[in-house]
Amino acid sequence: MGILDMLKSAMKGKKKTLASKEFKCPNCGAKVTLDMKRCPECGVRIKSMFRKKCPKCKHLNPLDAKICEECGYDFEAEIRAAKKTQYRCPRCGYKMNAYMSRCPVCGVRFG
Ligand SMILES: [Zn+2]
Ligand SMILES: [Zn+2]
Ligand SMILES: [Zn+2]
Repeated sequence: MGILDMLKSAMKGKKKTLASKEFKCPNCGAKVTLDMKRCPECGVRIKSMFRKKCPKCKHLNPLDAKICEECGYDFEAEIRAAKKTQYRCPRCGYKMNAYMSRCPVCGVRFG
C-alpha cells in the first residue's frame, strides 16, 4: 500500500465519522446524525439547523456551502491549506506543499 492510498483511506475514514457523528437535534434534543435528512422525533430539517460560520464575516452558511453566501469567503481554501501540511517525506521528514512522487530532498520515491 502506497502513501497515497494510506492518505486516501484516512480521509475516507474521517469523512465517514463526521457523517455518522451524533448531534443533538437543536429543536427537540433527540439524537440525530448529519446523514439523516430530518429529525426522527420532530421532523425538523437537520441540514438547515446545523450551519457553518464564516470565519470572516460570521455569516451562517448551509453546511454544504463552498463559499460564504455573504462575503464570498472560500471555505475550500481552508481545507486545501490544511491538506498541504499532510505531505511529509517518511524518510527525511521534508514537508511538501503538494503531493510529489519523489522527495526533492532525499530522492526517495513514494507510492
Ligand atoms: Zn428534533
Ligand atoms: Zn463571510
Ligand atoms: Zn525525503
